[in-house]
Amino acid sequence: MHLKSLELSGFKSFAKKANLTFTSSITGIVGPNGSGKSNVAEAFRFVLGEQSIKSLRGKRGEDMIWNGGGADAGRAGRASVKLVFDNTRKLFPGIDFDEVSIERVVNRDNSNEYLLNGTAVRLRDVVELLSAAHIGATGHHIISQGEADRILSASIRERREIIEDALGLKVYQWKKLESLRKLERTEENMKQVESLRREIAPHIRFLKKQVEKIEKAQEMRRDLVDIYRGYFAAESAYISAEKERLHREIAAPRKELGELDHELERAKSVLTAAKGKDHKSGLVVDLEGRLSAVRIEKDAVTLDIGRLEGEANANRRAIDKEKDKQKRDEFKTVYLKDLEEVVSSIESFHSLDDAKKLFHEIVSALKAFISKHRGTNDSAFIGEAEKEIESLNNQKAAKEAKQKSLSEAEAKLVKEYEELKAAIDKEKDTNRDAEKDVFRIIARQNEVRSIVTNLNNSIAALAHEEDAMKRELGEAANIAGREAVDYAAHGAVHRDRQAQEAQRHQIEKLKIRIEDAGAGGGTEVMKEYRETEERDAFLARELEDLARAKDELHKLIAGLDARIDYEFKSGIVKINQQFGEFFSLMFGGGKAELFVVREPKRRKKSDTEDLAEALSGADGEAPAEDDEDGPEGIEVNVSLPRKKVKSLMMLSGGERALTSIALLFAISQVNPPPFVILDETDAALDEANSKKYGDMIENLSKNSQLILITHNRETMSRAGVIYGVTMGSDGASKLLSIAFEDAVKVAK
Ligand code: ATP
Repeated sequence: MHLKSLELSGFKSFAKKANLTFTSSITGIVGPNGSGKSNVAEAFRFVLGEQSIKSLRGKRGEDMIWNGGGADAGRAGRASVKLVFDNTRKLFPGIDFDEVSIERVVNRDNSNEYLLNGTAVRLRDVVELLSAAHIGATGHHIISQGEADRILSASIRERREIIEDALGLKVYQWKKLESLRKLERTEENMKQVESLRREIAPHIRFLKKQVEKIEKAQEMRRDLVDIYRGYFAAESAYISAEKERLHREIAAPRKELGELDHELERAKSVLTAAKGKDHKSGLVVDLEGRLSAVRIEKDAVTLDIGRLEGEANANRRAIDKEKDKQKRDEFKTVYLKDLEEVVSSIESFHSLDDAKKLFHEIVSALKAFISKHRGTNDSAFIGEAEKEIESLNNQKAAKEAKQKSLSEAEAKLVKEYEELKAAIDKEKDTNRDAEKDVFRIIARQNEVRSIVTNLNNSIAALAHEEDAMKRELGEAANIAGREAVDYAAHGAVHRDRQAQEAQRHQIEKLKIRIEDAGAGGGTEVMKEYRETEERDAFLARELEDLARAKDELHKLIAGLDARIDYEFKSGIVKINQQFGEFFSLMFGGGKAELFVVREPKRRKKSDTEDLAEALSGADGEAPAEDDEDGPEGIEVNVSLPRKKVKSLMMLSGGERALTSIALLFAISQVNPPPFVILDETDAALDEANSKKYGDMIENLSKNSQLILITHNRETMSRAGVIYGVTMGSDGASKLLSIAFEDAVKVAK
């Protein structure tokens, strides 16, 4: 036996605490009309979580509370019903206690409380607990007064629900509902994750482009470093080789020049000694003196010209560089957004009356835009450099003029010297040896000096190139980093000057492209790209997980569906066996069976909506016009003995009651509920049928505890314990345990 006791307190007509203990497998409840018997049956439904107040004969929860009767019996503040189960046989498998009490309280503010063994719980907990114990929410095992044929008058869908409930399939339905809800949440989550991914996709694309740019710039920088290293290695090898060569080459002529000076001094001193005696010797010394003065000056001027040329070249290079930079600005990309700003600023000029003024304003706005976006170009620099070149050229021209006049003076002196030489040569005088020496020395000096001058010029030019390289090294370190100037690692490179010049151009081009790539803030962008990508990958993984979870839920639901379907159909077969037997027992023949039909399709609802509605016991939608395949329902087929009646509609009241009872008992036989409450189900039975009913009840009580509210003597006689309900003048119901004989009297 599962039911232990029922305690009512302030519930409906039970003003005072009333307690029913169920010590027998059949408990009868008897009493006069209106004494409160049905209130007891309703107390069961109430405590088991009934949500339809209407079905408890009330409008609001408040109607469940004792509302006062006579003058001295005041209203109660709350109604409570407590049902106590014996759990020693683990009727509630999840609960370890030997006794389980479920209590429901309704307050005057219509709020409800549920208590499980004294601890507050949610309604849902109660419902799930009960469904696990095969005490279903459809209340198929609590038949209220006048509801005996509820199962016959129910829609085919409600019938299916009652039978599913009775077969204990609600547990699976709850699991299915839970899975459907999870599925909905999963799908919702998937949508959210997908939308998040959609949101960040353009950002990732943008960042990716930036990163590609940065990587391209980094690659270009690496290329630049390589080219720089080769370039510097070649340049440095060239400069040191040239330096070495020039110094080597200049050594001999320099030495010779020194020696020639000595020789000349010696020859001159001979001539000076003979000066007084020889007019021509004086001329030679004098001529030599003037010639060497002119040549020294000419050498200096030549060196100056070389220097001026070098400076002019450096200026030219700087101008070229600046011009390259400016040329780039002509193809500079500007943001459309910026241009739109200019347009809107132009649109704000409303002085249309003065077209000329407007035109100027537009032009100056556009000019301001261009100069804002042009790089910091130093046009003044070009002007200055050009001026500088001009001045250098002027100086050079002066020097060249000077050089020319010196050359002319030199030529004149050389001519003089040639004439003097010829004259001296003619004299064939042995004393003229010294003069001849002077002439020879001077001639040789002339040759050697020009060699030395040329070499000096080359040395000076090389020094310029060395300076230029130093500047380039500084620049390279700035633009491409220190490794760009680490050319020693590159090894010696020998390259002709033309190839080196080509490299220099290559370097300039690369520098410009790197600058254009504008790879500033690279690490930030890279970091953001990496992070955003990681987030996206995380979301993708999450999406996969969710898709897997969705798949699993689909499988789970399909499994539950299959299980429900199988259990349901095999349950129907079993019920039909019992139903047929009970039916022919009641009617002395005939046939009755349940069969599964498809309900016409209704408004499209989600599976979750549908199932949640079914589980909560809410009313379904009315069938729609189109009758495609809808959910399955249960139809009842009866065939009475000796009658042609086939439709339920055509049964008499008694026949309906008998058919319902047969069906209810059949259902209860297949999957016996812990208890069954029958409120005057036997009201319509005649004596013969009351007897059969009594037999069936006894049979049923083997597996389920029965609580029978009845006026029927036969039924009463089958009860082990009988409670009498009476109502005093205060309108409050009272309970008392009575003997069968008294019960017969009380019932009347
Ligand atoms: P019958 O044999 O005719 O079916 P019954 O014994 O089943 O009668 P119930 O229907 O259980 O009688 O009892 C109804 C009684 O309970 C009515 O007298 C009604 O006034 C009373 N009642 C119902 N709700 C309340 C309430 N909130 N406060 C007080 N009395 C109530």
